Amino acid sequence: MRLFEKCYNFTDARALKNAGCYPYFKSVESGLDAEVTIDGKKVIMLGSNNYLGLANHPKVKEAAKKAVDRYGVGCTGSRLLTGTLDIHIKLERKLAEFLNKEDALVFSTGFQTNLGTISSLVTRHDILLIDKEDHASILDGCRLSYGKIFKFKHNDVKHLGSLLANFPEDMGKLIVVDGIYSVSGDIVNLPDIMKVCEKYKANLMLDEAHSLGVFGKGGRGTGEYFGLEEKLDIVMGTFSKSFGSIGGFIVAKEPIIDFVKHHSRPFIFSASMPPPSVAAVLAALEIVEKEPERRDKFWTNTNLIKKGLYEIGFKVSMNKSSIVALFIGEESLTFTFWQSLFDEGVFTNPIITPAVPKNGAILRISCMATHNEKSLIRVLEIFERVGKRLKII
Ligand code: PMP
Repeated sequence: MRLFEKCYNFTDARALKNAGCYPYFKSVESGLDAEVTIDGKKVIMLGSNNYLGLANHPKVKEAAKKAVDRYGVGCTGSRLLTGTLDIHIKLERKLAEFLNKEDALVFSTGFQTNLGTISSLVTRHDILLIDKEDHASILDGCRLSYGKIFKFKHNDVKHLGSLLANFPEDMGKLIVVDGIYSVSGDIVNLPDIMKVCEKYKANLMLDEAHSLGVFGKGGRGTGEYFGLEEKLDIVMGTFSKSFGSIGGFIVAKEPIIDFVKHHSRPFIFSASMPPPSVAAVLAALEIVEKEPERRDKFWTNTNLIKKGLYEIGFKVSMNKSSIVALFIGEESLTFTFWQSLFDEGVFTNPIITPAVPKNGAILRISCMATHNEKSLIRVLEIFERVGKRLKII
């Protein structure tokens, strides 16, 4: 009984359900695109990471179907033993080429990529320095390693520098940051972080989950956007956002990749990325490279929503970001707002503590390249109407 006591005492989700504003685990009954069907009703999807709309792209789907016909539905083994296909190798070669690094390693999820990379590289003789807003998979990767963890204040390079100053030059130091922070949507201060890395001889791993495909002229992320790609030691990315699928990867120098692939437990002791997903990512990567207009459309849509919400009177993050954070504050109001928007046909993501500080609840909004202007203008009208009714604006 003792073990499960917390389960029987857990009432938060039930309370939200009883209040009629439970926003989680909504099941989509249609194709995953700019408009989806949930509970039999069409809603405009403004909460997905399908930034370029590739999850339901005909060429991407066709590639996945062909891979199923050729290889089957799953690898049923780890990359190390029976789970490596020729298309895994092809994808790794293409990713290394795309990001101008020596080699790449593909994992089954983005979460596993951070877990497996950080935990295998960092020993008890090394230290880890991570931003307070880093993704959960980074923190868990650090916890799984034997290195000592130091968190620096969000995007505060001075604080990072002051922590680094306490350690000898020849000590192993890995700084891990997000390119775009997944909750607030803040962009990393990469130029200053890079200077600190050089000053204190630390290595940098950059999680480009929310920036690959959309940031930089070539869609190569915030490293490209800041013109600092060459200086990045390890770039991490996921296929579950702009690439519309599932899986993750790192690119780095060849000896680093070789070490991780022979030491990373989440990589070695887990089945590999399934054939349709690998093929889908290969097709998506080609589109990311060949169709920059998708990126442009994504930014046109994001800027329309961001500027529109700001002009209506909402508190929104105005920095360059693939994610729009709309600040509300109080949790119960955030859930009521979410439900009212949903009832009017707009799907967003409510984010509450512990992902944000107490009374710092936000709605997290993200656009896709496949939204059209007409539907986004409808979204703004709905936000204005509901926002006024609930006295948020
Ligand atoms: N890093 C960041 C910054 C993320 O936002 C996420 C997912 N939200 C991940 C890693 C994990 O990626 P995946 O969902 O592909 O496992």
